[in-house]
Amino acid sequence: MNKLKLATVWLGSCSGCHMSFLDLDEWLFELAARVDLVYSPFADVKEYPEGVDLVLVEGAVANEDNLELIKSVRDRSKILVSFGDCAVTGNVTAMRNLVGDTESVLQRCYQEAADIQNQIPHEPEIVPTLLDQVQPVHTVVTVDLYLPGCPPDAQRIREALESLLAVGIPKLTGEQIRFG
Ligand code: SF4
Repeated sequence: MNKLKLATVWLGSCSGCHMSFLDLDEWLFELAARVDLVYSPFADVKEYPEGVDLVLVEGAVANEDNLELIKSVRDRSKILVSFGDCAVTGNVTAMRNLVGDTESVLQRCYQEAADIQNQIPHEPEIVPTLLDQVQPVHTVVTVDLYLPGCPPDAQRIREALESLLAVGIPKLTGEQIRFG
C-alpha cells in the first residue's frame, strides 16, 4: 500500500508550530509508519516535490521567497493545512505591518533601532526581499483546512492528523474544515 505523502513548510514565523509538532514524541513513530515525509525543515530536501497528499504550512507570507514557495506548494499538494495562527491570521509575523511598507520596516529595524553599523542589507541572494505587507496564507492561495493556535498544541495536531488519515485525503479535496 502506498503511504500518504506528507510535507511541512516553514514560511515567515518563529518555528514554534514545528516545535509543537515535535512534541508529539513517540507518536511520531506511529505517524512515520503511515506516511512518507517528503519535504520539511526536518528533512534535507531542496525542492518542493510533486504529488504531495497533505501539507502543513506554518507561518505567513512575508517575503518573495515565501510567495514563490507557497505557490509551488499549492500547485503540487492535494490538501493544504494553514498550520498555526501566523498562517491563519498573520499573527506575530504580521505585526510589522503596523510599521508600514517594506522601506519603513527596513528603516526602522536596520537604521533607527541599530546601535552600531546602521545599514540596510541590499543583497537579495542573502536576504529575501520583503513584501510590503505580511499576508496570511489563505489570502495568497486556497487553503483547505485551518489548524489555529499559537502554537496548536501537540494533542490537537495529532487529532487533526489522525482524522485526516482516517478519512482519507481524496475525499476531503475541496472542503474547508477548521480544527479547534
Ligand atoms: Fe510561532 Fe505562534 Fe506563529 Fe506558531 S503561530 S509560528 S508558535 S508565533
